[in-house]
Amino acid sequence: MVSKFSFFIILLVLHYLAVVCISQDFDFFYFVQQWPGSYCDSDKNSCCYPTTGKPAADFGIHGLWPNYNNSSYPQNCDPTNPFDESEISDLISNMSMNWPTLACPSSSGETFWSHEWDKHGTCSESVFDQHGYFETALGLKQQTNLLQALETAGIKPGEGTHSLENIKDAIKKATGHTPWIECNQDSSGNSQLYQVYLCLDNAGSSLIECPVFPKGGKCRSEIEFPSF
Ligand code: AMP
Ligand code: AMP
Repeated sequence: MVSKFSFFIILLVLHYLAVVCISQDFDFFYFVQQWPGSYCDSDKNSCCYPTTGKPAADFGIHGLWPNYNNSSYPQNCDPTNPFDESEISDLISNMSMNWPTLACPSSSGETFWSHEWDKHGTCSESVFDQHGYFETALGLKQQTNLLQALETAGIKPGEGTHSLENIKDAIKKATGHTPWIECNQDSSGNSQLYQVYLCLDNAGSSLIECPVFPKGGKCRSEIEFPSF
């Protein structure tokens, strides 16, 4: 026979479990894409092409990063689930093209992808397994097609500068959402388009307006979009 007291305790435990199950481990994702020309001519780092060869002159994926609305973010959430290339063997050729490593020394990409999964991906395990994580990022790259978005607005890699506003408008028009543009500097100190941040809801299913924008990496009002 269950006493009133134990019934109360059971209710409390059920309530606690419900709260734990619906509470979210993060609020949204940043989906971050990178212009390889600006990684390679930056004043900070040199670059090395992947062992698979020079990447296409296109934006590459940097990562899909769980984030909190207060701007902080979780990282390295599950050391028991390290990057395992055998889980994504069907995606590797797509990743080599669309998620190229540019770090030195030259490598196949494994180090970069495993860094992204271990640091950021493991914090979204409630939404994605490894295959889902990488597949979603690849799909978002295709969906957002930044190079096409800019080209449609007459903005092409090469000489000269573009207004930051025109770049933002072009991406907003094409994707439906306001991007955050991160700039770095080339070796002459020119501000240039380095990374583009868009936001994804915490179910990993739709692009949303970013709840907060990242800090740092500020652009001047006129920026370069160097060739690669
Ligand atoms: P960078 O400023 O290009 O050297 O790179 C930004 C670094 O800060 C990376 O190591 C990111 O992991 C980290 N970072 C900064 N802001 C965020 C954010 N909002 N979400 C996830 N990672 C971030
Ligand atoms: P994260 O820690 O995910 O926020 O990303 C920042 C780290 O990724 C830094 O150590 C960067 O040097 C590195 N990184 C950024 N872009 C690339 C790239 N295309 N290839 C290899 N490493 C990269």
